[in-house]
Amino acid sequence: MASSTSSSTGRCRRRVVLLRQPSREEDYEPPRRYCYHRMVVSRWTAWTDGNPGRRFYGCPFYYQDGGCGFFAWHDNEFGERANTVIKELSDDIDKLYDENCSLQRVEHGQRMNEELDATHAELRKLRRRHEQYDGELRKGKNKFKVVVSLLFVTYVWLCVLYLKM
Ligand SMILES: [Zn+2]
Repeated sequence: MASSTSSSTGRCRRRVVLLRQPSREEDYEPPRRYCYHRMVVSRWTAWTDGNPGRRFYGCPFYYQDGGCGFFAWHDNEFGERANTVIKELSDDIDKLYDENCSLQRVEHGQRMNEELDATHAELRKLRRRHEQYDGELRKGKNKFKVVVSLLFVTYVWLCVLYLKM
C-alpha cells in the first residue's frame, strides 16, 4: 500500500497520504452526540486495513491521544468483500497518483528543455548582433583614423605653405 508510493516525490506523496487521512465531519445529521468532555463529537472516517472508509463518532481530540476516549461506530461493518474492494480501489488511486506524478515530472523536464533551447537560440542571436556591432565599430574607428590623418597632413601642408610665403 504505502510502499507503492515510495518512488513519488514529497509533494505527490503528501497528496496520497491526504487521501487516507481520517476525515472529520463537524456538521452531520442529528442526533448530535456528546463525548465525556460534554463536547459535540466529530464524525470521523477510518482508513485502517480492517475498516477502510467506515465512519465512527469520536471525541474532537480523538487523534490527539484518543481525547476522552469516546468512541461509537456510525456505519455497520462493511464485510470482508467490501473491505477488499475499497482497499483495491485505494491502491489503484495510489498508483494513478504515482503515474500522474511521474508524467508531471516528464512534462516539466520537457518544458525545461524547450525553455533551455529557446534561451540558447536567443543567446546565438545576441552573439551574432554583437559581432555585427563589433565589425561596424572597427570600420568606424578605421574611418576616423583616415580622417584624422588627412587633417594632419592638410595642416602640415598649410604650415609649410605659410612658412614659404
Ligand atoms: Zn471528549
